[in-house]
Amino acid sequence: MRKTLVAANWKMHGTKAFAEQLLAELNSGLESGNGSSQVVICPPYPYLGWVADRIGQAQLGAQNLSEQPSGAFTGEVSAEMLKDCGARYVIVGHSERRSLYGESSQLVAAKFAAAKSAGLIPMLCVGESLEQRESGKTLEVVAEQIQAVVALGLEDCWESAVIAYEPVWAIGTGKTATPEQAQEVHQFIRQQLGKDGDKVQILYGGSVKAGNAAELFAKPDIDGALVGGASLKAEEFIQICRAAD
Ligand code: PEP
Repeated sequence: MRKTLVAANWKMHGTKAFAEQLLAELNSGLESGNGSSQVVICPPYPYLGWVADRIGQAQLGAQNLSEQPSGAFTGEVSAEMLKDCGARYVIVGHSERRSLYGESSQLVAAKFAAAKSAGLIPMLCVGESLEQRESGKTLEVVAEQIQAVVALGLEDCWESAVIAYEPVWAIGTGKTATPEQAQEVHQFIRQQLGKDGDKVQILYGGSVKAGNAAELFAKPDIDGALVGGASLKAEEFIQICRAAD
């Protein structure tokens, strides 16, 4: 039986004062739930260590990492550094990294491998653009993004790894994939993973809110959510976590 997981991607939002208030509200809200689902908070880099000290029962994640272990790579942050700051998870291949910063599937796969070799749990984001969906290429695009990781031939590749299906057209747009659309892709992703398919947590991401979380989580292959905008509102995020419990 797979556990459900809800991850908050704060992106480049907030200040310490904002985070302090949000964490205080989240901690008291999450404490009163049954806590059966895992909760991961991914703040911006500079706040990692600071959030780690105030995170309560949630776990810490980062939003990105370097594919390099160390060296002269100005502005980059290694997997080891993230671990050192208390991170257990790291998002790799978010669509904003792929589209705004030109990260190819091969670079994303290298980041996935770097995370694994440092003992972090990568949360691999995959998903199609609106144009790709409308031209019937959704499954082809998702398969290519997954296969770039498979091609590395990592030992125990999907053990301690998470996948987030995030259709690009649903991220930050208020448009959510229907539970049926998401389920179809999640099921396809499990097939792509072969014998490991049944074990891996596959999250849905794209305008998840308190109002649509429960119907998404009711689908058999949806194991939780990666949440952007709604994770900055304590009450809304707590309700999403409750729907996953
Ligand atoms: C995200 O950034 O991963 C995301 C899903 O954002 P939102 O929930 O705002 O669509």
